[in-house]
Amino acid sequence: MRTSLPDVLAAGDCAITHHRLLGETYLPLGTTAHKQGRVAGENALGGSREFAGSLGTQVVKLFDLVAARTGLRHTEAVAAGFEPVSAVAHPEDHKAYYPGAQAIETRLTGDRRSGRLLGVQLLGRRGSEVAKRIDIPATAIFAEMTVEDVLDLDLSYTPPLGSPWEAIQVGAQELARRLVDGSWYVPNALG
Ligand SMILES: Cc1cc2nc3c(=O)[nH]c(=O)nc-3n(C[C@H](O)[C@H](O)[C@H](O)COP(=O)(O)OP(=O)(O)OC[C@H]3O[C@@H](n4cnc5c(N)ncnc54)[C@H](O)[C@@H]3O)c2cc1C
Repeated sequence: MRTSLPDVLAAGDCAITHHRLLGETYLPLGTTAHKQGRVAGENALGGSREFAGSLGTQVVKLFDLVAARTGLRHTEAVAAGFEPVSAVAHPEDHKAYYPGAQAIETRLTGDRRSGRLLGVQLLGRRGSEVAKRIDIPATAIFAEMTVEDVLDLDLSYTPPLGSPWEAIQVGAQELARRLVDGSWYVPNALG
């Protein structure tokens, strides 16, 4: 969070930032601003903390729909030099035999060379916990986990609230298959 002036630090919307998959970028978000403010404040008092980097994790509610993303979309991964494979799935937010189940659209992108998870986008109805579900891949990508690692995560389950294979893991199963068999989802114009 240092600038070219020794006694001036920068954080938040006025600062370029570090993206853990892309390197230098500009990603003005409240989540990033708060963490950078903490780093800048500590360093202003003589500390030597570094901002760990962002993944662009974000969520938006549009009427009854919620859309969330973390990491890279397919086209961004291509541009960044990865060899991406992407997969779409439509798992239910909780077990279908319990009333009120609704589908979530999951799009996961992984890197064919390393097997790493690179990005996830989710779209679902309000109440299907899309905002908190995106935090699972956000944590996995932060920790540089592979798609197979995501399948091993021990996540919570009870029928009214989820499934034994969490929706993110259902998406990861679909992606893991494509990483192995070589087929991949062709992204639409939105990538
Ligand atoms: C409508 C909207 C919705 C958003 N929703 C989200 C969201 O859902 N999630 C998310 O992560 N991010 C969201 N953001 C982005 C987030 O608000 C910003 O990234 C974050 O507030 C940036 O923090 P900051 O401290 O850098 O700047 P700011 O929060 O803009 O703070 C800058 C402060 O400096 C003050 N100031 C400016 N000039 C001077 C001056 N000359 N002297 C003294 N004070 C000055 C301003 O009044 C302001 O209080 C949203 C932004 C907008 C506009």
